[in-house]
Amino acid sequence: MIDDNARASRLTAEKRPDLQLSFEFFPPKTDVMEQKFWESIHKLAPLKPRFVSVTYGAGGGTRERTLRMVSSIKADTGVDAAAHLTCVGASRDEVDAVVRGYQAAGITRIVALRGDAPEGVGQPFTAHPDGYRNAAELVEGIRKIGDFDISVAAYPERHPQSPDWDSDIANLKRKIDAGATRAITQMFFKNADYLRYVERARAAGVTAPIVPGIQPIHSFKQISGFAARTGATIPAWMAERFEGLEDDPETHALVASAVAAEQVIELLDEGVTEFHIYTLNRSNLALALARLLGKRPD
Ligand code: FAD
Repeated sequence: MIDDNARASRLTAEKRPDLQLSFEFFPPKTDVMEQKFWESIHKLAPLKPRFVSVTYGAGGGTRERTLRMVSSIKADTGVDAAAHLTCVGASRDEVDAVVRGYQAAGITRIVALRGDAPEGVGQPFTAHPDGYRNAAELVEGIRKIGDFDISVAAYPERHPQSPDWDSDIANLKRKIDAGATRAITQMFFKNADYLRYVERARAAGVTAPIVPGIQPIHSFKQISGFAARTGATIPAWMAERFEGLEDDPETHALVASAVAAEQVIELLDEGVTEFHIYTLNRSNLALALARLLGKRPD
């Protein structure tokens, strides 16, 4: 039987005071993209997310833009902003200088990552001869500089370069033990993978929050491409739902909204209270999801 009361309480903000959202953006490249970036930030800021994060181009190519965007988000909206940072192609001194730049700009949150080889995701990673060799070492380095809130990456389907589950989870534990506050997952579409991952991490003694990274499907073609590169699986049922919608943006958006809603509501029912939403600098699906989770603009 349909339980309307259960549905109502699940989706009412007052009943979910513990619900926390964060939104991920990338630094815009052009003036037009920057305008869209700010439109989206201003629509999402009234939801009072825990933070908005801005990614870091693999080889540091977005260093200035990431810093500028993160500093401006905080100044313009009052929302806390987190700057991503990778170890790719830079010495420890160079990376430390970026961290000190964040510190000088008043940024207190960092998403610390190893990053991928400049030759492309999936290619073997070679650290700079004087650089941090992985994210755990980076976290340790950041901790020496200041009291940052540090997030690290987690992979419900295992990082493609992890030889097995034990080494994948041991790597997550190293990052948390080095001083990270939370892990944020790579996109995933099968909630069972995430729940199993959390179970494995807890069994290994990881107690930090493991926040699910939710990727709304703005464009099935684009997201399938990202997924293939990052080792995330697109289930057959999902591909079927979007099949033939390439030239029908309205239906595509409605299906995307339903798919993402289904995913987060199922996680909510499993007791998950924190979500990180990959926005790709768009606000519409993120806004819809926030609303379904009971978050209203302040
Ligand atoms: P690590 O945790 O260092 O691990 C990478 C691999 O190396 C794993 O397989 C691990 O098991 C292995 N490994 C690590 N240390 C050791 C060791 N001591 N011995 C043996 N094996 C080891 N990329 C960007 O370029 N810019 C971004 O802004 C960005 N943001 C991201 C945000 C999130 C939430 C996520 C999930 C990913 C993001 N990425 C970003 C992608 C990320 O850089 C890649 O997934 C990269 O391949 C791994 O980074 P990591 O921090 O997880 O690496």
